[in-house]
Amino acid sequence: MLHFAKSLFFLLFVFSVSIGNAQHEAYSDATESQISDTTFVKLRDYSNDFIYDMKYATEDNFLKAKVYDCAECMLRLKTVKALIAANNEFLKKGYRIKLYDCYRPLDIQKRMFAIVSNPEYVADPKKGSIHNRGGAVDISLVDVTGKEVDMGTPFDFFGIQASHNFKQLSKTILSKRAYLKKVMINNGFNSFDSEWWHYNLKTGLKDKVANEKWKCE
Ligand SMILES: [Zn+2]
Repeated sequence: MLHFAKSLFFLLFVFSVSIGNAQHEAYSDATESQISDTTFVKLRDYSNDFIYDMKYATEDNFLKAKVYDCAECMLRLKTVKALIAANNEFLKKGYRIKLYDCYRPLDIQKRMFAIVSNPEYVADPKKGSIHNRGGAVDISLVDVTGKEVDMGTPFDFFGIQASHNFKQLSKTILSKRAYLKKVMINNGFNSFDSEWWHYNLKTGLKDKVANEKWKCE
């Protein structure tokens, strides 16, 4: 009987170790991904802490055309990591990032350029923009109540008022723009002088222009 109890105990021990390993494997698959930093991924698969307002997936944009099939934010993995780090910093102060645009496939860039063929407003697809490389985001902030922070102009406002150098704005607006810029720069992004909403990942400038597709669910 003692021998039986010992065997049973041994079996239970082996069983629990193997379950433990399986759990560890599943955990590490989800958290220590082996995919490269330049792989395109959906932000949604890595965080639920962002607000989506993907303007080009609606007709509420300067093109007056819906050019994305769905409101998805796709980026290279390294951009996703940097964006989550920035968002975590904002969250500590009661803010979070609202997304207007992320990666833009080259085919979409061509469609946009066909609608507005002016390189001042839409980058020429022959050159491509950092959005086409998966390293750019157009963003703002929302506060703890979910209200969008006043940044002085709407997204895609084509005027001098959208520039970081335009200082004839209230102190509150200037400080909110400066706050957004400071946190983004701390987390590996560059700002873009003429658009307060646009940020480029510094290490993403030389990545290839890409034409990835994503599934809409
Ligand atoms: Zn942009």
